[in-house]
Amino acid sequence: MTPADRTSRALGTVLGSAVGDALGAPFEFGPEGAFSARFPKPGGGGEMCGGGGWDPGEATDDTQMAVLVGESLLECGGLELADIFRRFQRWAVSGPKDIGLQTEDVLTSGEPWDFAAALHFQVNQRAAGNGALMRAATSAVYFAGGGTEATMDAGRRIAALTHGDRAAWEGTALFHELVRVALSGGDPLDALPGALDLVHPDHRARYTAVLAPDWHPDQATEFNGAVWPCLGSAVWALRTTDSYEGAVRAAVDLGGDTDTVAAVTGGLAGAVYGADAIPSRWTEPLQVPLPGFDGRVLRAAELVGLAERLAR
Ligand SMILES: [Mg+2]
Repeated sequence: MTPADRTSRALGTVLGSAVGDALGAPFEFGPEGAFSARFPKPGGGGEMCGGGGWDPGEATDDTQMAVLVGESLLECGGLELADIFRRFQRWAVSGPKDIGLQTEDVLTSGEPWDFAAALHFQVNQRAAGNGALMRAATSAVYFAGGGTEATMDAGRRIAALTHGDRAAWEGTALFHELVRVALSGGDPLDALPGALDLVHPDHRARYTAVLAPDWHPDQATEFNGAVWPCLGSAVWALRTTDSYEGAVRAAVDLGGDTDTVAAVTGGLAGAVYGADAIPSRWTEPLQVPLPGFDGRVLRAAELVGLAERLAR
């Protein structure tokens, strides 16, 4: 593998996740099969259609938060959790079109960054949503070079800023490791058994079930806004298709939390197939507004620049 391949995979991770997010957003909470009913033929065009309050190509909270994480890592020169939390707070109070309930509660609670999520979890006992997994593309690229332990540890810590449930940390850590494997030219599907060995024992069985080769999203025991079926569906979409486009089409077609399932799928598929595999008709209209940050709106070229710096 050449360094160019690695760079293309890193760009593919960040760009691929953002494209999946924007592609899936108009179909959120829709039924299974809605996407392929409207766009039956892969490569047909017009898929970045907007709707449901989203402009064509507009990315949602998944990508907005991923950008905030990535910019914090670069500007701080490493993991400064308090800084990421401050950026999240500034964004959360600036009226993003979409924000997870769990995430909003924690970020606006007024509690200190290092136990806001834990306090929320203590009271609510529910924090296994996919809201930390969805924003992990940038940190997965940044920490990939540090090896398995370092990247999984960072994934857990960033997840824990908003999600007090260890299930959310472990799913995010798994995503980090799968991206690391892909960026180094390996097959993330082959790496699953080894990665599952590194999941906290209390959570291993549940992830082993949803990441099994014969698991299908129809077998999910929760809505795919939960972290387990979300990651399981993304890996299923990667496993059962042979292209970036095929994988994200399959993800959006599952219905439910389509922007996030497609963002996670798109991050993995982008890491496997590289940035060149992402159709330009999907990257061209891409736009990532950053509420709370002086009206900035990132386009694909800026996401590529961010990913290049994260991959260094
Ligand atoms: Mg979203």
